[in-house]
Amino acid sequence: MFVSHGTDQAFETVRLLRIPAGSSARVTVQSETVEVVRTHWFGRQYACPGDGCPACECYQSRLTCFLVVTVFTGKVWVPNLLELTPAELSRVRFMLEWDAGEIVPGVVLHVSRKSARSGVRVEPQEVEGGQVLRSLSSREVLFNSVCRLLALPSAKEGEMPAAWQDRVRPFLVSRLQLAIEKMG
Ligand SMILES: [Zn+2]
Repeated sequence: MFVSHGTDQAFETVRLLRIPAGSSARVTVQSETVEVVRTHWFGRQYACPGDGCPACECYQSRLTCFLVVTVFTGKVWVPNLLELTPAELSRVRFMLEWDAGEIVPGVVLHVSRKSARSGVRVEPQEVEGGQVLRSLSSREVLFNSVCRLLALPSAKEGEMPAAWQDRVRPFLVSRLQLAIEKMG
């Protein structure tokens, strides 16, 4: 009989890693790519649909970078989505001498947050120390996890990014319009 052994199972999506103020975590990078999303904040995070976005006319947007990592809980490694600012990601990229757009799985990072208002700070700890799980490195896991976090429909099997954006944009625009009306 086949028994799944925790981290060997296939993951479709992983949840966002929350670092409470004053605490830290040790994570291993699993993604081979980074997903960069323009977002707005109205009490919660919304993806910006770009062209024709009703929020861009009156509110600021910011770029957010996501990658899949595993976190050691003291007993097991748990897969999570790590959210970073572009500035923090480029700092890590510079320190690890990664090429533009490149992410190297297996790097171990120390992730911390000083206060509730400050962003997550990342320091490289080991260049090749972490265990890499093949099932987590695919772009699908990263993409689907970001979609789930931002409450967006996932891409259908074989759907190209441009087709997915065209399908999702009208839905995002009307959701943002509702959110803006609510804000008054
Ligand atoms: Zn926008």
